[in-house]
Amino acid sequence: MLDHFIKSRWLALLLAVAIVVALVFVGRRLNATKIGGQGPAEPFRIAGNLYYVGATDAAAFLITGPEGHVVLDAGYPTTARLVMASIAELGFDIKDVKVLLNSEPHADHGGGLAVLQEVSGARLWASDASAGTLASGGDDPDGFLPLRALTWIGVLGYPPPRVDQRFKDGDTIRVGPIALTAHVTSGHTRGCTSWSFPVRDGYRTLNVVSACDLGVLASSTYPEQAADRERSIRVLRGLPADIWVTCHARWWGRYRKFVASRTARNPVDPFIDPDGYRAYLDSAEAELREGRTH
Ligand SMILES: [Zn+2]
Repeated sequence: MLDHFIKSRWLALLLAVAIVVALVFVGRRLNATKIGGQGPAEPFRIAGNLYYVGATDAAAFLITGPEGHVVLDAGYPTTARLVMASIAELGFDIKDVKVLLNSEPHADHGGGLAVLQEVSGARLWASDASAGTLASGGDDPDGFLPLRALTWIGVLGYPPPRVDQRFKDGDTIRVGPIALTAHVTSGHTRGCTSWSFPVRDGYRTLNVVSACDLGVLASSTYPEQAADRERSIRVLRGLPADIWVTCHARWWGRYRKFVASRTARNPVDPFIDPDGYRAYLDSAEAELREGRTH
C-alpha cells in the first residue's frame, strides 16, 4: 500500500516536471517565432540618406553613407528578415551596415539586433543603461519580476546581440560623414535613447529627431521614472525637428506620410512635421501629468 503511494507520488512528480518542461519548450518556440502583429511594409526614402526599412509598426531606419551605413532598431527577432529584405529592395547591401543603434531594448525594438549583427558584422552601440538589457537578451532590471523570470528561461526575450561600444548622453556616433547625436531620454526605460542628425535634401539641411518612447509600461517601472520623463520631454522640446520619427511607426504617421509623399511635388515635404513632433511631446506630457501608463 505504502509502496504504491510512493510510486504514484513519484509518477505525479515526474508528470509535473514533464509538463513544465513541455510548457517551457512550447513557450520558447512561440517566443522565437512571435510576429507581434508585424507585417512587411514597403521601404522608402524619407529624406536624403534616411530610409524607412521597418515593418508595419515596429520601426527600423537605414542611414546610408559612402563609408558604411547605420541601422536604428530591428523590431522583433522575426522582424529582422523584413528589415534585411527592405534594405536589399532599396538596393543596399546589409554587409555595408557598420553600426547598429537602438532606441530602447524591449523585444519589439531590440529583438532583431542579434540577427542583423550576425549577418552584417556591424558594431552595436548602446547607452550604459541599455547595454545590460540588450546583452542579456531583454532582461530589464526594472522589469516586473515574473516577466524577468520568463526571460531567464527564454519564454520572453530575444537572442542577445553583442554590445561593442557604449556611449554617453550627448555623444556623437560617426560613420564617415554620418553623425548621429545620442540623447539619453530616460523614462520608458532608463537607457531609452533619442537620436538627432541632419539630412540633406537638395539645397536644404533638415534636422531629424528620432524620439524615444516617453510612455510607461506597467511592467517596467522604477523610482525616478517620473522625474526622468519630465527631463526627457524638456530635452526633446529643445531639439530642432523638421522631420521626426519614433520606434512605433503608427505614432509618427509612417503610412499617411508615405502615401502623401508619392504625389507630393517634393516627396520629402510630407515628412516635414514639426507640429506633429510637438503634438507627440504634448501627449507624452499629458500622459505623465495624468499618471497614465500605455
Ligand atoms: Zn518599450
